[in-house]
Amino acid sequence: AAPRPKRPDWLRVKLPIGPEYAKVRKLVDEHKLHTICESGNCPNMGECWGAGTATFMILGNVCTRSCTFCAVATGRPNEYDTDEPRRVAEAIVLMKVKHAVLTSVNRDELKDRGAEIWYQTVRLIKEASPATTIETLIPDTKGNWEALERMISAGQEVVSHNMETVERLYRRVRPQARYERSLEQIRRTKEYGQRTKSGIMLGLGETKDEVVKAMDDLVANGLDILTLGQYLQPTKMHHEVIEWIHPETFAMYREEGLRRGLKYVESGPLVRSSYHAEKHVNV
Ligand code: SF4
Ligand code: SF4
Repeated sequence: AAPRPKRPDWLRVKLPIGPEYAKVRKLVDEHKLHTICESGNCPNMGECWGAGTATFMILGNVCTRSCTFCAVATGRPNEYDTDEPRRVAEAIVLMKVKHAVLTSVNRDELKDRGAEIWYQTVRLIKEASPATTIETLIPDTKGNWEALERMISAGQEVVSHNMETVERLYRRVRPQARYERSLEQIRRTKEYGQRTKSGIMLGLGETKDEVVKAMDDLVANGLDILTLGQYLQPTKMHHEVIEWIHPETFAMYREEGLRRGLKYVESGPLVRSSYHAEKHVNV
């Protein structure tokens, strides 16, 4: 086999240290919460946690799906934790979070796909901290549009749903997802009147034409905000990094996206779907 490409310099990041980081970590642990920052081994933890921001993962830390890029454990999740919305809201107040990002595992085994916990969490945050703006990065509801409507009707400012990759790679990267269904979810979210956002990881073997095609599909389905970042392999068991995308290529995609009608594009090697999320609440 060809030698694996070495991780380039532009992906080196500072270690998450400092008093603010330690404070956030303690709060998260005390409230028995999960963050995608930790479970996804996000390279921006130093920056985000140092600034008092974190992305909370609700509905547990075991997922019914097995996306090949993702570090979250696959299995049968525990029962609904009905106290979780309250703890998330309390942590957000204590952390003085100005912009909260919420995400969750997929709960395909639940009839409502976890929509009720989603709804309650957003409502309780808004009650406890009305000035906090909220982005909800929601899972694929597997065509349950009633569940989708419940998830997106709680008063959040942004609703995101990540495409993650281009159409051709879905079977390898998101085996339980469907490209067209995710597009439809975004279209329905827009029709409902929400600000829409999505994210694609690069470096999984996609071509430029395929990325541009995905952008066109997203624009056609009402997408407002797109994030593009370099895929990093969480462990050797996960999908390999096929390519390190150069920062200039990321810049080119940003221009392409804007030219094609997206309102906001965050594109760069270290960009994650929640990176700089506070910057596009009002687009
Ligand atoms: Fe957490 Fe998102 Fe920041 Fe990564 S980019 S540390 S997931 S808030
Ligand atoms: Fe990870 Fe989300 Fe896929 Fe579950 S659905 S394996 S949490 S990316």
